[in-house]
Amino acid sequence: MNNRETELTENLDEVKAEVADAAFRCGRKADEIKICAVSKLHPASDIEMLYRAGHRCFGESYVQEALAKQEELSGLDIDWHFIGGLQSKKARQVAGMFSAIHSVDSSKLAGLLNRRAAELGVVQNIFIQVNTAGEEQKSGVGEESLPALVEELLGLENLKLVGLMALPPFFDDPEGARPYFARLRMLAEGMEKLFDIRIPELSMGMTGDFRVAIEEGSTMVRVGTKIFGRRPGY
Ligand SMILES: *Cc1c(COP(=O)(O)O)cnc(C)c1O
Repeated sequence: MNNRETELTENLDEVKAEVADAAFRCGRKADEIKICAVSKLHPASDIEMLYRAGHRCFGESYVQEALAKQEELSGLDIDWHFIGGLQSKKARQVAGMFSAIHSVDSSKLAGLLNRRAAELGVVQNIFIQVNTAGEEQKSGVGEESLPALVEELLGLENLKLVGLMALPPFFDDPEGARPYFARLRMLAEGMEKLFDIRIPELSMGMTGDFRVAIEEGSTMVRVGTKIFGRRPGY
């Protein structure tokens, strides 16, 4: 193993251990929580090294970059997740290319993804991104519009709503994010009751706050920096 490979696998092992510890401390099982390794702005070779170490789930945020990496790594059965903000004009490019799209936040986007998934003859898993902080500039559907979006999604045959996703504001103290994570879980439970459906996944928690997210019910943590180090250019 070269240095980078050693570094990456050690980092991932550390994240796994922390996830397991956080789960254990709140009475959950570690295998209820999937680790999505957020590889955006890091080279495909990093992904390949973690793949060799047995990791499969990777998250990307930029369409062009993600598709280029998929092509470069096309022989590998990677579980790709699209977690970045998605413009309507790029919807056609991502539908059918990812295990799940975490950033669906409008009926327009949902409609475009559904149409493309139908053309491809696939059912696309999606998360609704909720702006639980009510931040103006952030993507994500506002809480007040969530029921209508859920209802609309339930009518789209080629999309499957699997979960909710949140990206709370940044806090130096991870405890600051806790109310937003708790809120996302409450909203998921509310939608389950309202529509008599199951929304099994909560995509929440990043490098700085995944322990807190796990305590609040996260089923998928999206961890970049703690696995890959700082992103180039940041
Ligand atoms: C970049 C990114 C992450 C990973 O953030 P880290 O702090 O590096 O772990 C998680 N989720 C989303 C939506 C991101 O864009």
